[in-house]
Amino acid sequence: MLKRILIFAVLFLAGFLAAQWTASDQEQSPPQIIVQALDDGSPAKRDRNGYPMPFNSEPTIDKRIIVKDDSQPLKEYPHNYVPGTEPLDEDEIRITALGTGNPAIAKDQAAASFMVEVGNGEVFLFDAGGGSFGNWAAMKMPLWKASKIFLTHLHMDHIGDVDLHVDAGQGFGRLRPLEIWGPTGPTPELGVAAYVENLRKIFCWHDAVKRSIADRRGFDIKSHEFDPGLTGEVLVYDNKDVKIFAYPVPHGIFGPVGYRLEYRGLTFSYAGDCEASMNTVKASMEVDVLIHEAMNTPELLMDYMGLPEIMAKTILWTKHTPPEAAGKVFAMAKPRLAVTFHHFNREDTVEPMVNAVRTAWDGPLLISQDLTVINITPQQIVTRMALVEQRPLLTVDMDYMRRMHVGSQIDEPIYQLPRELDESVIRIDFIEDFKKTAKFMMGVKKVVDTVSIAMDKVKETFSPDHEEEE
Ligand SMILES: [Zn+2]
Ligand SMILES: [Zn+2]
Repeated sequence: MLKRILIFAVLFLAGFLAAQWTASDQEQSPPQIIVQALDDGSPAKRDRNGYPMPFNSEPTIDKRIIVKDDSQPLKEYPHNYVPGTEPLDEDEIRITALGTGNPAIAKDQAAASFMVEVGNGEVFLFDAGGGSFGNWAAMKMPLWKASKIFLTHLHMDHIGDVDLHVDAGQGFGRLRPLEIWGPTGPTPELGVAAYVENLRKIFCWHDAVKRSIADRRGFDIKSHEFDPGLTGEVLVYDNKDVKIFAYPVPHGIFGPVGYRLEYRGLTFSYAGDCEASMNTVKASMEVDVLIHEAMNTPELLMDYMGLPEIMAKTILWTKHTPPEAAGKVFAMAKPRLAVTFHHFNREDTVEPMVNAVRTAWDGPLLISQDLTVINITPQQIVTRMALVEQRPLLTVDMDYMRRMHVGSQIDEPIYQLPRELDESVIRIDFIEDFKKTAKFMMGVKKVVDTVSIAMDKVKETFSPDHEEEE
C-alpha cells in the first residue's frame, strides 16, 4: 500500500515538475518561424496549443526551440544548462532569469533580475532584485564580471541585491568600479546618480570596517544617469558591438525605462515594470526576445494578501500590466519569443496567466521562472532550465586576481576597536600568533606587489598587443 502511495506521489510530482512551456506553432512574419517543443514523453500538463505548461522552480525537462533560419545546421544544446559548461559562440546571447518575481519573493522565486551574456565575453545585469544574488552565484560567473548593472527603476524589488553585488566585488576581486546605469527622475534626488550617492552613505559603516581588509579598487560605484525622455529611445551604452537603448515606460511617475540590447543582429528587450505602452511596442518591434511583466489577477492579491479590491486593482491595473494587456503588447511588437515575469508562479496561477495572455497573443510564449535560460543565435532561440548546485560557492577567477595583484591596494584602518572590546576578545593562542605576524606579512606583500606591478608595467610597454583588463 505504502509503495503504491509512493509511486502515486512520485508520478504526481513528476507531472508538476515536468515542464513550463507554452507555445504556438502559428507562423510569425517575417521571417518564418517554426516552433518545436521537444517532448520526452513525460506527463507534462499541456496548454491548448499542445505545449507543456510552466510550473515551479524545479528544473524542467522540456526544451523549446524556435527556428529562425534552418539553412545551416542548428547548434545542439543539452537538455538543461549546467552553469560553466557551455562557452558561447561569438554570435550568441544567453539570457538567464535570476529573478522573475516581485516584492513578495519566495524561496524559489527572487525579485526581478535578468543576466545577459553576449558572445564577446561581456556580461550585463538588468535589475538586481532581492534574492537574485543567490541565483547569480549559482551561475558560476566570476565575480569581477558582475560590474555592469542596468536598472529599470528604483523600486525595492529591482534594487534589493545591488548591495550584495557591491560587497561580493570587494571581497572577491572585482577590482574595478561597479557601474550602474539608470534613468533620471522628476527631480535630481529621484535619479540614479542620487541613488548611488545615497548607497555610498548607507555603506559608510560597512566600508569603515572593510576598507582595511579588502582591496580599495572594489569599493568604487559609478553611476551613469541618463534622461530617457518621454517618447522614443536613447542610446545609453555602445561598446564592442553591444548597443543598449533605454525607452521610457509608464510606471507611477517619470523615470522608469525598458532596455533594448542589440548585438550583431540579435535583439532582446526588457520592459521592466510598466503599464502596457506603445513606447515598449515601438522599441521592441520584432525583437528576438521580449520580456514583459504580466501581473496576476486582483482576486489573487485579495485572497492571498488580504488587500481590499480597490487597492489590488489600483496596483495591478494602474501601475502594472495585466496579462491580457501584455498579450496585446506581444501581438503588436511580434517578438520571436514573448516572455512574462513579475508574477507569482504557483500551481494555480500559471494556467490563468497563460489563458489571459492567449486572449491576444498566439505566438511563442514563455512564463518565466527563476533559472530559465534562453540562448539566441542567428539560427534559433532555445529555452531551457539551468541545473544548478543547491549550495554553490561564489566563483572566483584566480588568474584574474593574481594578474590584478588583489590585496595590493588596501587602506590603513581609520577606526580601531575600542580597547575594552578588544580586551574582551577570548584569547586563542594560534590567533594571537597570527595577529602578531599579520601586519608584518601584509607589509611584505605590499612590497612584493609593488615590485610585480612595476614589472607588469614594463612588460606592457613592450607588448603592443596588450589589451587592458576589463
Ligand atoms: Zn517590480
Ligand atoms: Zn516597480
